[in-house]
Amino acid sequence: MSSTLITNIAELVTNDPHADDLLGTVQDAALVVEGSTVAWTGPAAAAPAADQQVDVGGRAVIPGFVDSHSHLVFAGDRSAEFAARMAGESYAAGGIRTTVAATRAATDEQLTGHVARLVSEMRSQGTTTVEIKSGYGLTVHDEARSLAVARQFTEETTYLGAHVVPEGWTPEEYVALVTGPMLAACAPHASWVDAFCETGAFDEDQSRAVLRAGIAVGLRGRLHANQLGEGPGVRLACELGLTAVDHCTYLSSDDVGALVDSGTIATLLPGVEFSTRQPYPDARRLLDAGVRVALASDCNPGSCYTSSMPLCVALAVREMGMTAAEALYAATAGGAAALDRDDVGVLTPGGRADLVVLEAPTFVHLAYRPGVPLTSQVWVAGRPV
Ligand SMILES: [Zn+2]
Repeated sequence: MSSTLITNIAELVTNDPHADDLLGTVQDAALVVEGSTVAWTGPAAAAPAADQQVDVGGRAVIPGFVDSHSHLVFAGDRSAEFAARMAGESYAAGGIRTTVAATRAATDEQLTGHVARLVSEMRSQGTTTVEIKSGYGLTVHDEARSLAVARQFTEETTYLGAHVVPEGWTPEEYVALVTGPMLAACAPHASWVDAFCETGAFDEDQSRAVLRAGIAVGLRGRLHANQLGEGPGVRLACELGLTAVDHCTYLSSDDVGALVDSGTIATLLPGVEFSTRQPYPDARRLLDAGVRVALASDCNPGSCYTSSMPLCVALAVREMGMTAAEALYAATAGGAAALDRDDVGVLTPGGRADLVVLEAPTFVHLAYRPGVPLTSQVWVAGRPV
């Protein structure tokens, strides 16, 4: 197996859980890649020999971003809705139906091409693992094909038939479809089951039914909750022992306590608050309480059409009370935990060699230089891409 020494790293972020600092940072560092995995990390002066050597010229190296929440399988454009919202109209969950019509009308090739473009856009900004949800088909056929398209790009596919109740259905009829024939058609293409537990989408009992049905056929659970107001979703996610609950913008003290007790990851999606001009989630409150936090893009055509994890890091630092180190950790190791993964989001021996060489001497530039493209090189599974 061929080995490569990446050296002259001004600052290496490993997220090593055994390190003294949160990020397991090494200054003047090097890293050895063997095949697709990390074989060694440490001070450059102590680095072992390797078959090849890459000098990154005093740049920082971080683990690739793990974006644990995206909705990339869709067609159509909702920029007019965004412009109207910025002109004063409010966001409501029903806007999803606009995208559903366009997605149903698109061919498989159009959907695949669109996801490929977005995954490539993410990768160029340092994202090396992405979760992709269905949720804009809302028929048995369109949900299953959305997941089949997503599966071409990632193993982390999520069945979100319970995104919104489509036109012409009562909630009761639709939940029966989502937990019955639609689940049967989708489960072979999915790793996760999800629901949108929010006023205007699915209530607590409906969300519980969807999650339990998915878990019963072997999917793991995650949930959209507490985005637009306080509600039962976060406590439901904790009650069911889900891996992650996403949004967490409006939380009671009971919600925070439930997150601490369950260990469920709170995935914060600040691009949504940015793009809907809503108050940001209070990450400081969660971290101080001992909640495990992830950051993700929620890239979707309605409430947040950014694919940029660096933007999420910058917003988390500027608007949500996170330190730069906490935000980077949440966007890498946190995202991995939210996908129940320990092989990504870290650069420690045995982990997958997914890394980003930053056009900067330190990761702090991700928040210090918002909006600036800082990706110099991206490596996936031990190779530059
Ligand atoms: Zn979402």
